[in-house]
Amino acid sequence: MEFDLHEDDAAFRRDLEAFLHEALPEDWEARSADGPGSEAQAAFSREFCARLAERGWLTPHWPREHGGGDASAWRHALLGELLWSVGEPRGPQYMNVNWIGPAIMQYGSEEQKALHLPRISAGDVLWCQGFSEPEAGSDLVALRTLALRDGDDYVVNGTKIWTSYVNHADYCFLLVRSDPESTRHRGISVLLVPMDTPGIEVREIPSVVGERYFHEVFLRDVRVPVSCRLGPEHEGWGVVSYALQYERVGAARYARAARTLDALAERARSRGQLGDPTVQEKLGEARAQCEAARVLTWRVIDQRAHDLPPSADTNVARVAGTRAEQAVARLALELFGTEALSHGSFADSQFRLAMTAGVAVGATEVQLNLVAQRFLGLPRE
Ligand SMILES: Cc1cc2nc3c(=O)[nH]c(=O)nc-3n(C[C@H](O)[C@H](O)[C@H](O)COP(=O)(O)OP(=O)(O)OC[C@H]3O[C@@H](n4cnc5c(N)ncnc54)[C@H](O)[C@@H]3O)c2cc1C
Repeated sequence: MEFDLHEDDAAFRRDLEAFLHEALPEDWEARSADGPGSEAQAAFSREFCARLAERGWLTPHWPREHGGGDASAWRHALLGELLWSVGEPRGPQYMNVNWIGPAIMQYGSEEQKALHLPRISAGDVLWCQGFSEPEAGSDLVALRTLALRDGDDYVVNGTKIWTSYVNHADYCFLLVRSDPESTRHRGISVLLVPMDTPGIEVREIPSVVGERYFHEVFLRDVRVPVSCRLGPEHEGWGVVSYALQYERVGAARYARAARTLDALAERARSRGQLGDPTVQEKLGEARAQCEAARVLTWRVIDQRAHDLPPSADTNVARVAGTRAEQAVARLALELFGTEALSHGSFADSQFRLAMTAGVAVGATEVQLNLVAQRFLGLPRE
């Protein structure tokens, strides 16, 4: 594995840094503290993504035929690192470019590709992810939202929960049970559903993560054309497994944690605390965790750049990223108490993200179970 960036990737990073300096408003830190679901941030992220797209920086790693620039997986990873370190100004669109677009590229019909991919690569569309249900979170295959065939449509009934950003979404990447007789991994399908389809009701779940972040989505007799199904009928689990491999290392949360850590160290210096060996040790430990998460993530990116199949390294990287985030958040509290957590402060959003990081995209325990089975070859029970 090469640890140095190629010169053109290093130049790209410098150009992007200069662009961010100009494109992010002065009050960005405070604005982003409200979370990507807030009206202000959602509006900003649309504008920001369109500007990225104009420069070819929204989907640089996609094939040219789909609005990309044929760049390597590294280019996309660098982009994600830098954007996450400044609070992810792409907002919900990080999901589009990380895994929704790639899943459509892999499994979509020609019509679906023509409809969705140009809009994603232009930064012109918001998606949400309709996976979790009240009785199906970690055990996602327990999902019960039913999609029954009726002529050329599916009729969908069920409830989704914890759906992020849905209040602004144009489409939902919806997981349904299309075979009512099926159980577990079989009989699941993916539907690409326009959010203005009649029968969809959205209710916010207030949460500590951010304004208008989580929602319940009620689907009542929602008619979705069969042409909106992504991939083969009843075989949606393969589609989701493919997408989740991208999602788990898609968010460079460790980069944001490292940036918060810089702010912590700076504050410790200004308070005269940096000479304290205990403080130094704690800062060093947290830095090591951020670096470990970065290197483990880079290992996955390297495999992807070499077209190797996804492995449990993805789960290892996810766990390391979560732990790095949590270590930095704990340290902020330890060093500065509640001062670090006042709304809009440097460590506030870090803390809120860290609290939920071990649950999102599969709880840490679930990731560890996957590592035990796939990496260490241990039995399931
Ligand atoms: C920030 C955030 C954003 C999210 N966004 C979305 C979204 O956009 N769309 C969407 O569909 N969902 C979303 N979710 C939901 C997320 O996918 C679920 O919360 C997650 O899958 C866990 O499911 P659950 O909440 O039902 O918890 P449960 O499945 O009830 O798990 C609770 C806890 O039990 C433990 N546990 C569960 N199973 C096992 C096991 N097999 N072994 C050991 N321990 C276990 C874990 O500690 C886990 O944290 C989001 C969640 C968060 C926190």
